Amino acid sequence: MAIQPASIDLDFDREHLWHPYTSVTAPLPVYPVARASGVFLELEDGRRLVDGMSSWWAAIHGYNHPVLNEAVVSQLQLMSHVMFGGLTHQPAITLAKQLVALTPEPLQKLFFSDSGSVAVEVAIKMAFQYWAALGEPLKNRLLTVRSGYHGDTFAAMSVCDPVTGMHSLFKGVMPEHYFAEAPAPRFCEPCTQEDMADLHQKLEEHHREIAAVIIEPVVQGAGGMRFYSPHYLCRLRELCDHYNVLLIFDEIATGFGRTGKMFALEHADVVPDILCVGKALTGGYMTLAATLTTERVAEAICSGNPGLFMHGPTFMANPLSCAVASANISLLCSYDWQASVLRLEAGLRQGLEPCRDGSNVADVRQLGAIGVVELHRPVDMALIQKQFVEKGVWVRPFGRLVYLMPPFIMRDEELGILTAAVCDIVNSME
Ligand SMILES: *Cc1c(COP(=O)(O)O)cnc(C)c1O
Repeated sequence: MAIQPASIDLDFDREHLWHPYTSVTAPLPVYPVARASGVFLELEDGRRLVDGMSSWWAAIHGYNHPVLNEAVVSQLQLMSHVMFGGLTHQPAITLAKQLVALTPEPLQKLFFSDSGSVAVEVAIKMAFQYWAALGEPLKNRLLTVRSGYHGDTFAAMSVCDPVTGMHSLFKGVMPEHYFAEAPAPRFCEPCTQEDMADLHQKLEEHHREIAAVIIEPVVQGAGGMRFYSPHYLCRLRELCDHYNVLLIFDEIATGFGRTGKMFALEHADVVPDILCVGKALTGGYMTLAATLTTERVAEAICSGNPGLFMHGPTFMANPLSCAVASANISLLCSYDWQASVLRLEAGLRQGLEPCRDGSNVADVRQLGAIGVVELHRPVDMALIQKQFVEKGVWVRPFGRLVYLMPPFIMRDEELGILTAAVCDIVNSME
């Protein structure tokens, strides 16, 4: 017999629980999920919603996948967790092998952490320790672009877009870094010298203080769902080399196929000095992230004082997370995922086209398994959420952006339901 979920105490939730970016005194409605399977979330009342979010980029193979379930259950019978200080285990080693093989060849050294934000903290720490070890402790600032998103912890937040990241709120307690204009050329456009002018000037003026440039390659996610020219990254790599600044790619959202390449950096064929991955790494099953770097950076860090990399989370390389991540990557590599993503891209293009001429719509765009409808005005979140649920889909817009990033396993039929719901709702907005 199937396991029956416990009933969901919404009153307690409303009274005591914070959800992401919410008020705990004037909460917006939340929908109780009892279970999830394939591309469906099942609400407590039995309604099934087509999942358009992959639980924020993560559940690329949908929910309750037999292969991923099996990986968790088998590992659970051996050990769910042991400390990584002084101990090691095969799930971590197997996963590290896969990641080192999948990412560009120079990235050989890997640090596991528990979430994307921490992977970004680790990347930033690596960059600072690198320059400190080389006797350049003044190189302790970062340069990034506007409209970025890198996570919610302090160092990660300090390189998020200063406006949407509410930097004014944390003035004085958050490190201040340099911001260049967001990349202007669109995905299929070339990138000119002029497009680099602002960033170039900031490097020219401040490179003696700048440890690294950090950026999300090709797709800026939660900071605006913008797709920009891969050629920008080629020019950025050249500038970083010229000014002796490290380059950090944050592929936490884009990694593992979402943009149509295994990693978005493959659109440009550019290799960063440090790479962060997370989100889809475990197929959305568990929280896990990793930061990879080159032999050169790792050797410098370990040659300096204290000769160690100064980080070590309690749940580092959690075996359950590593086991399911490994199974997820093997699963991804076992079928023609690229064809699935291309099929979703075509379905998103066709399905969202009827929105384009709507009076509320500023832009419609898609890349890989990401579809975005940008509106002129911010949505009324509580209202639009209710409308989506009534249409049997799970879509969670933010600000002026209504976007879809379905699991790769979604069939055309369910994708059609999602895109039709988006078009209907967007076109009927007041
Ligand atoms: C989600 C995200 C993060 C933060 O990851 P968490 O797991 O939420 O801490 C960092 N960078 C990018 C690009 C992301 O999309």
